[in-house]
Amino acid sequence: MQKRLFEGAKQTLLEAIDLTAESLLVYGPSHRHWAIAWSGGKDSSALLTVVMFLIESGRIPSPETLTVLYADTRMELLPLSFAAMRMIAQLRSRGVDVRVVLPEMDERFFVYMLGRGVPPPSNTFRWCTPQIKVEPMQAELSRLVGAIGGKVLMLTGVRVGESASRDSRISMACGVNGAECGQGWYQETLPESLCDTLAPLLHWRVCNVWEWLRIFAPSKRYGGWDTGTIADAYGGEEAEEKNARTGCVGCALCERDMALDLVLTLPEWEYLQPLKGLKPLYRELKLPRNRLRKPGGETRADGTLVKNQYRMGPLTMDARRMGLARILEMQAAVNAEATRTGRPPIDILDSAEVARIKELIDANTWPRRWDGTEPRADEPTDEGGPTLFDELEEEQELVNLGLEES
Ligand code: SF4
Repeated sequence: MQKRLFEGAKQTLLEAIDLTAESLLVYGPSHRHWAIAWSGGKDSSALLTVVMFLIESGRIPSPETLTVLYADTRMELLPLSFAAMRMIAQLRSRGVDVRVVLPEMDERFFVYMLGRGVPPPSNTFRWCTPQIKVEPMQAELSRLVGAIGGKVLMLTGVRVGESASRDSRISMACGVNGAECGQGWYQETLPESLCDTLAPLLHWRVCNVWEWLRIFAPSKRYGGWDTGTIADAYGGEEAEEKNARTGCVGCALCERDMALDLVLTLPEWEYLQPLKGLKPLYRELKLPRNRLRKPGGETRADGTLVKNQYRMGPLTMDARRMGLARILEMQAAVNAEATRTGRPPIDILDSAEVARIKELIDANTWPRRWDGTEPRADEPTDEGGPTLFDELEEEQELVNLGLEES
């Protein structure tokens, strides 16, 4: 259990850095190998660069190895992924082992959704974070631990900010109130057999993070890191006031796509506007006409009756084709404008992913216990026809899709 080093924390940035150094001095030396779970967002980028500064300045001893695991979900906000690529080049030029961690092809967001037919994630059916962020990280960590033959100290960018001094529980909620999607999950779910986790920025306030990224880290004295562009990628000064969070472009779980909205206020990223179509598309895909539904009398693998007999299931093949076409249209619109204005193109769906989605559709691929013969969810049935599509129904979906036994 991480010790409460941060009592009464209402600190300046320099005090925050001192406490981070203290935390690493207490817990670091018991591990020969350290790793950093880096999402490319503000918190984990602050963590990465402050740890580098503390090591390079001799304020904390260097571990035998430091490995940076960059979680590339393929869904990152474009300005952040460009900023991450520049940081990776800087890290590698200083001899840091950076590994880009990608989900397996069939597990990627769009491939899973449109190829296998699993509906877009929601607050009650959140398949995305474990699948595109945490599990690939676990797999890479296993490889790393296998290669070095010893447990790793995994550093994460989890923060509780101002509440650190009075709240003894670390909120593991993923991606709310300015946090980065995934960080809490890394802290909570990476297996103890492979790593111990430490959150050296636990006590940092969001203003400490911005100050570090914008002013300190880019200065030569603190490492000369290209972190200003990361802060800018959140949408400039306004982002600071809004305690901006980030995650996937068009995150299906956020009420508003605030990260993209803020980025679109900057002239150089205006051409990403067509991506605003992602959230409405996810909402549309969840409608009954785009889903299948098991008729009444459905049973689980153990023979017991499923509670909600009218719940909705996977995406129809037509819905998947429609979704694929719409995303490709958005991408083509962005890239046409990118070409016209000399801006970088995007590839939220690359040719290999498109080919794999089509292959899975052609092979009539469905989630477990579904085969595509089920009626559409908007068709009336003898059992009383389509009923509620409400949160309760969504809660059942993990089981419904065979992703989790109830
Ligand atoms: S940012 Fe949103 S869509 Fe992306 S993994 Fe996190 S919760 Fe899922």
